[in-house]
Amino acid sequence: MRMPVAQFVVLVHVDALAIALARLASVSGGGAKVPECRKGTAVRLDRGTRMTTTQNNWRWCRKCQALHYAAHPLGSVCPAGGGHDAAGSGHYSLFTVASPPANAQGNWRWCAKCQGVFYGEAAASVCPAGGQHDRWWSLEYAMPTAAPTPQSQSDWRWCRKCQGLFYGGSPTSVCPAGGAHSKEGSGNYVLSVADGPGSVQNALFRIVSAYGPTWVLGESDGRTMYTAGHVALRANHDHKWLLKWVSYPTTFKLARAASAHIELYWPFSSAVDYAPLILNAKSPGYEAFPDNPDSLHFEVDPLGDGWVAINNRSHSKVLDVWRAEARDGCPVIAWPWNEGTNQRWRMVPVA
Ligand SMILES: [Zn+2]
Ligand SMILES: [Zn+2]
Ligand SMILES: [Zn+2]
Repeated sequence: MRMPVAQFVVLVHVDALAIALARLASVSGGGAKVPECRKGTAVRLDRGTRMTTTQNNWRWCRKCQALHYAAHPLGSVCPAGGGHDAAGSGHYSLFTVASPPANAQGNWRWCAKCQGVFYGEAAASVCPAGGQHDRWWSLEYAMPTAAPTPQSQSDWRWCRKCQGLFYGGSPTSVCPAGGAHSKEGSGNYVLSVADGPGSVQNALFRIVSAYGPTWVLGESDGRTMYTAGHVALRANHDHKWLLKWVSYPTTFKLARAASAHIELYWPFSSAVDYAPLILNAKSPGYEAFPDNPDSLHFEVDPLGDGWVAINNRSHSKVLDVWRAEARDGCPVIAWPWNEGTNQRWRMVPVA
């Protein structure tokens, strides 16, 4: 079968589709075991079909039933107390409106404060981290109401009290607006899920400055004599970073999304204490700097409302826009924390 590209439909073998539908009917329970995807049932993309992009690392919380993003070093906030608990969860993937599956609804956003996903304008919402959810700078997600992939799970619901997405097949739940979530008036959302267990994977982020959503952590134009370049504040720049876990959920490396062997590197061996962070390439023609934890490891400190300071391993210095100059190409350096706007970042999950 062949469908118009404009429908953005992933083409599925008829046999695979039948198996998928049968499987969908048999799956139940947020985080419940999902059958292994058998050989020969994989989704087949015909030539000319637009490839869909998904974002993985979403998990179900067994304490409150909420779907939440589990690959953020800031951690999450659960209305049942502490952080969300992804134990026993399947591995969920979300679609964005840039490449939606068939029968999907847009206007869903990631919340930087709690790591949940919620519908619509934040003004009508309730966030477990306090106040309302924060939708700014999030990708826009497309939530399917029909099976988007062979392995899918239905009965995910919108809560009219908090605007969050939660698993509706459990007898109990905890809503940040008080009591249990409500599925009244909700559609039946069907999420793409893979079986567990397995660890949270490396993830793509846009690292946005507190100067505003057009200002991001990027890289300078061109390489230097010794490196693949240095990092800089960039305006209207679509730079993505690959977060590579060293020790989940606290310690990570940051690398170029397009060439993951090129890693961000603290210049602590430099004689100049305002030297910019560099991109340490390990490919022929580039100088390889010593591969040690002090130079390659990053952690974050929470600053409230989803903002972070991005620290070195000993938390002695943070990513800092040089002299607080909000201009395109301004170097980003390592500097002690001094509560500056030039030291505040938001790490936004991207696909
Ligand atoms: Zn929770
Ligand atoms: Zn929230
Ligand atoms: Zn709720």
